[in-house]
Amino acid sequence: MHAAVLKARGRFEIDRAYPDPRLSPTDLKLRVLFSGICGSDLHEFVAGPLMAPMPSVLGHEFCAEVVEVGAEVRGFDIGDRTVGVIYPSCGRCEFCKRGDFTLCDMRELAVGERNGSFAQFIAAPARQMFLVPPQTPVEEAALIEPSSVACHAIRRSRLELGERVVVMGAGPIGLLITALARRAGADRIAVVEPAENRRRLAITMGADLALDPADEIEGPIMEMTDARGADVVFEASGNPAAFASAERLTCKQGRLMLVAVYEGRRLELHANRVLGNELDVLASFWANDTDFRRAVDLVASRKLDVRPLISERVALDDLQNAFERLASDRGKYAKILVDCNS
Ligand SMILES: [Zn+2]
Ligand SMILES: [Zn+2]
Repeated sequence: MHAAVLKARGRFEIDRAYPDPRLSPTDLKLRVLFSGICGSDLHEFVAGPLMAPMPSVLGHEFCAEVVEVGAEVRGFDIGDRTVGVIYPSCGRCEFCKRGDFTLCDMRELAVGERNGSFAQFIAAPARQMFLVPPQTPVEEAALIEPSSVACHAIRRSRLELGERVVVMGAGPIGLLITALARRAGADRIAVVEPAENRRRLAITMGADLALDPADEIEGPIMEMTDARGADVVFEASGNPAAFASAERLTCKQGRLMLVAVYEGRRLELHANRVLGNELDVLASFWANDTDFRRAVDLVASRKLDVRPLISERVALDDLQNAFERLASDRGKYAKILVDCNS
């Protein structure tokens, strides 16, 4: 099959004889229809290896079609469309048992054993796959995975009706968090984002304010929050400077949510401010089975309309070029979808 292999920082190679994924009895073999480029893929391209080994086949935001069903799998048929998480989990540890398979104790071992979805085919544990209604357009279905990440972040933040929210960074995850925070009953939402195009999208997705970090942002946010700061600040930019402002913009006893991947790995925390203001510093990584089920419903029903986020479709052969364009000007795009079988 064809697969795009990240050989080194900044360099994909299209391998046209990459081995087809092997199927275990509990797996599905899937033909990838569309696979979105995630900010975390871009971080691997620019500064990897961070969370994935190198070389490897990246890609995890897919909508795919079942082409083969493992002998022990029930509930899936050839031709079904699915989304979910490829990397195997053990199914037995305390996290797997409650559906938090992305926190599985063996997760570190499993990443890299399988090729990601920048390839024609993937093998995926059926237990971590979720059916998509056949009438859902495949491009929109490819955004269910990032939507599940946003669902997870909203849930981890314990956002309540009437709270004030700040979202740092209007990449796809920041934009999806904005839309879901609105849906979850946030009173006011401010998004901080340097790219004008993404600030416009933030308003489309439900933000009240879209601010450029080059301007003074604390004034308008304090005004929006009656001078107390935001109840919840989502740091979805991966920029250490944005993290520092996020800390200042969180109200006393508020929640500071870490959602982004950081290329530099370490962050500075103003310990005495976090202590004095009793901030809850929380992290949200990926999604669990509840989040996936909710995201399937939200996207399929268009209660969460992901169409404004789709910037472009490219062929698998053009992956290098798409990543280079994203690396040099990511603010220009929201989600680029890769057509893996054209
Ligand atoms: Zn992702
Ligand atoms: Zn496990």
